[in-house]
Amino acid sequence: MLPVSPGWRTVRPMASVLVVEDDQFVRSALIRQLTEASHTVRSVGTALEALREVAHFRFDVVILDLGLPDLDGSEALKMLRGITDVPVIIATARDDEAEIVRLLHAGADDYLVKPFSVDHLTARMAAVLRRSRPAGGEQPPSRALRVGGLTVDPLRRQAELDGTPLDLTRREFDLLAFLAGRPGVVVPRKELLAEVWQQSYGDDQTIDVHLSWLRRKLGETAARPRYLHTLRGVGVKLEPPREREPGSQP
Ligand code: CA
Repeated sequence: MLPVSPGWRTVRPMASVLVVEDDQFVRSALIRQLTEASHTVRSVGTALEALREVAHFRFDVVILDLGLPDLDGSEALKMLRGITDVPVIIATARDDEAEIVRLLHAGADDYLVKPFSVDHLTARMAAVLRRSRPAGGEQPPSRALRVGGLTVDPLRRQAELDGTPLDLTRREFDLLAFLAGRPGVVVPRKELLAEVWQQSYGDDQTIDVHLSWLRRKLGETAARPRYLHTLRGVGVKLEPPREREPGSQP
C-alpha cells in the first residue's frame, strides 16, 4: 500500500496527457490546469507533431483540437488511429452533431465543445481512463476465458490463439473479450455497440470494420469463419471451431 497524504480527500489517478492545440492561450491554460490537477502534460501545436509524440511516448489520453493549422481534425484522428489506440478526446469549437458522430465512429473516445471548463474536461478524462484502465473501476473477470484454442485474459488484457499471443488494439481486445465471455451466444449488434463502444447509436459499419480486423488476426475470413460468426441482421457469436473429419469437405 502506498501512503496517502492526509490532505488528499480524493485520490485521482494521475494521467499522462498529450494536448494538441495550436491556440497558445488555450494551450497554456490547459497545461496549467491539468498540471495543477497532478497530471503530466506534453503539448504540441500541429497534427504532425502529435503523430511524432505518440510514436515516441506513451500517453494515457490525447486531447485533440479539431482546428489545427496543418491537418483537418478527422484526418489527424485517422492518422493517429493508424499508429495508436490511445484514448482520444476531441476538443471542437463546432457543435456539429453529424461531425461529432462521424469522429466517434472514426475512433474518437469522447468530445468536448469549446469553451469547456477544466472540471468538465477532467470528468470526461476520468470516464475515458476508467474505460481504458478497467482494473481501476469495474473489475473484469479474473480468470482467463477459453474458447477452443483461444485464451482471453481480461485482467492482463492479453489474448492468445493456440499459444501464440495476439497483437490486438484496445477495441479489438474489448470486442473479443466481450464475445469470449458469452461463447456460443449470438450477441445483438446493438448490445455490442452499447457494451464495447459505450454508444447507444451508430451504424453497423463500426462493428463490421473491427470484426474484419479481428478476423484477420485470428487467421480467418467472413467467408470461412472459424471462431467469429456473423448472423446477418441478428448479431455476432464466438464459438470454438467445429472439428472437421479428415478428408471431409469444408
Ligand atoms: Ca485551433
